[in-house]
Amino acid sequence: MNNLEQRINAAREAIIASDYLLIGGGAGLSAAAGLDYGGKRFTDNFADFIEKYGITDMYSGSFYPFETEAESWAHWARHIDVNRYAMPATRLYQDIFELAGAKEYFVLSTNVESQFVKGGFPAEKVFEVQGDYAFIQCAKACHDTLYDNAKLIKKMLAATADCKIPSELVPKCPVCGGSMDVNLRHNQYFVQDQAWYAAEKRYEAFLRASLGKKLTLLEFGVGFNTPGIIRYPFENITYVNHQATLIRFNRDYPLGPTENAGRTISFDEAIDVVVKALL
Ligand SMILES: [Zn+2]
Repeated sequence: MNNLEQRINAAREAIIASDYLLIGGGAGLSAAAGLDYGGKRFTDNFADFIEKYGITDMYSGSFYPFETEAESWAHWARHIDVNRYAMPATRLYQDIFELAGAKEYFVLSTNVESQFVKGGFPAEKVFEVQGDYAFIQCAKACHDTLYDNAKLIKKMLAATADCKIPSELVPKCPVCGGSMDVNLRHNQYFVQDQAWYAAEKRYEAFLRASLGKKLTLLEFGVGFNTPGIIRYPFENITYVNHQATLIRFNRDYPLGPTENAGRTISFDEAIDVVVKALL
C-alpha cells in the first residue's frame, strides 16, 4: 500500500477492530514530539556548556567526559531539568493517549522523559525499560534502590556557576559511599528496582492476555539502537499472532519482515501528522 490515505484507513480499521493495543515508543517518537536533542532547545539551554566544552548536542553532551563530578552533575542537572522536569506533556504523546482510547492497552518505552505518563497514560500501564531521568542510583549498583532526584536537581540548578555545582551537592551512595549516577541503562550497572520488575510482570501479563486475540501493535520511532527491546519482539508477536497487525512508524526503516508483510502497515511520514489523521 503506497497510498498514504489507504494506509491511514487500514491503520484506523485495524485499531478499531482490535481488543488490545500494544504501544512501543523509541527515540524517534520523542524527536517527533519536539523533544529533539539539538537545535534551538540545545543552544538556548546550554550556551555556557557549548562555549566551555564545545558540546554539540544534548545526546553527545550526556556522554561528555567531564573531569570532575561537580561539572558532570551541573550538566546532568541542566539536561534532566530541560528534558524531564521543565518539559510539559507534548501534543503528540497526548494524541497517542487519545488514540488508545478505551482499548485494553500497554506501553513499552525506551524513552526516559516520562512523556507517556505526562501525556495521560496511567503509570501502571507503562514500562520504561531503560530508566527514568527522575531517579539516581549507586553508580556501581551496590544496592537496588532508586532515589527521586527532583529536589536535588533543583538545588544543583540554583547553585550552578561556571558549569559546576558546589562539591557538597555532589551525591554520594548512602551504602558504599561511592559515586551516584542517573538511572539510565548506559552501562552494566543499571539498577532495576522492584518497581521495574513489577512493570515487567504487568507487561508479560498483557502479552499473555492478548495472545491469539485481536491485537494492534503501534510502534513509534524505534530504530536499531536497541532493537531487541521493542522492534524485534513486536515483529515476533505479530508473526505468532495471526490476528495481530503491526503499525510501524519509522522515518528510515518503516518496513517489517516479509513474513508479516500482509499484517504490517508502514509509515515513514511525520508521526504527528499521521497520528492526527488517525484520530
Ligand atoms: Zn553504592
